[in-house]
Amino acid sequence: MGTKCIGVDLGGTTTKFGLLDREGQVEDKWEIPTRKEDAGSHILSDIAESILKKLKDKGIDKEDIIGVGVGVPGPVGNDGKLTKCVNLGWFEPFYPEKTLSEMLGGIPVKAGNDANVAALGELWKGGGAGYKNAVFFTLGTGVGGGVVVDGRMIAGSFGMGGEVGHITVNPHEPDACNCGNHGCLEQYASATGIVKQAQRALAKSDRPSVLRDMDGFTCKDVLDAAKDGDALAAESVEGSMRYLALVMSFASHITDPEVFIIGGGVSKAGVYLTDMLKRLYAGYIYVSDPQAEVALASLGNDAGMYGAARLVL
Ligand SMILES: [Zn+2]
Repeated sequence: MGTKCIGVDLGGTTTKFGLLDREGQVEDKWEIPTRKEDAGSHILSDIAESILKKLKDKGIDKEDIIGVGVGVPGPVGNDGKLTKCVNLGWFEPFYPEKTLSEMLGGIPVKAGNDANVAALGELWKGGGAGYKNAVFFTLGTGVGGGVVVDGRMIAGSFGMGGEVGHITVNPHEPDACNCGNHGCLEQYASATGIVKQAQRALAKSDRPSVLRDMDGFTCKDVLDAAKDGDALAAESVEGSMRYLALVMSFASHITDPEVFIIGGGVSKAGVYLTDMLKRLYAGYIYVSDPQAEVALASLGNDAGMYGAARLVL
């Protein structure tokens, strides 16, 4: 029986690898560029080649590898079927576990959606360590997520489990989301969404704000201004986070998690953000005392690698 596993975080630009033991101790970490040309046809063979080379260099037997877990930026069903990964150039459904396992000479492979997998990583070794029921939100360019029940990640029947970013929170939103729907959580609570909501707030009135004098501003600028007491920025951020708190309350009424874990670039705002979310979330919970914790993710860019490794353990 093997003693080691490999976690692969397949991203649009870089693919990150980790060689871990059963307890999650990282023995080695490396990365390769993700070659997306030719409809992404080199991606899996590059991964296989890189893993086999690493095993050879380190003198590790294939039999000593329990398996290879891969987080991919697209929906993966419980049967391992990947519907599509638009940003990798994969438009046709296929079974990456089977393909990659064949390339690796039979090493077992397990794949999962990258946001789900990052959630699993945080639950194992990060901000959610010690919890068995959690809902994870990654607030980055978009909003990703993961739902863990009794220690198991819920991939769902059609790979839509944990796609919290595309829950409709405002059916009256005039602009369309990247997914085509109107009023998705992602349109407000992502970094892009926070900037857009601040721009809207500025356009709606002549109220003073430090953002008004900036020649273009980032999500960090908005969050910094809000923290520094800029009323317009603070109200705008609160408006965005109110939608996230609403979705947290949906989650509580469905799976009743012990903890919400907030990760991604926006989470760098730290306790300012989690305190605000706790307060707003409490406003939507009446059935029980609000008991779920709101915690910050702690693994940063390594969450995907840890979670992918955890998939095969
Ligand atoms: Zn959407």
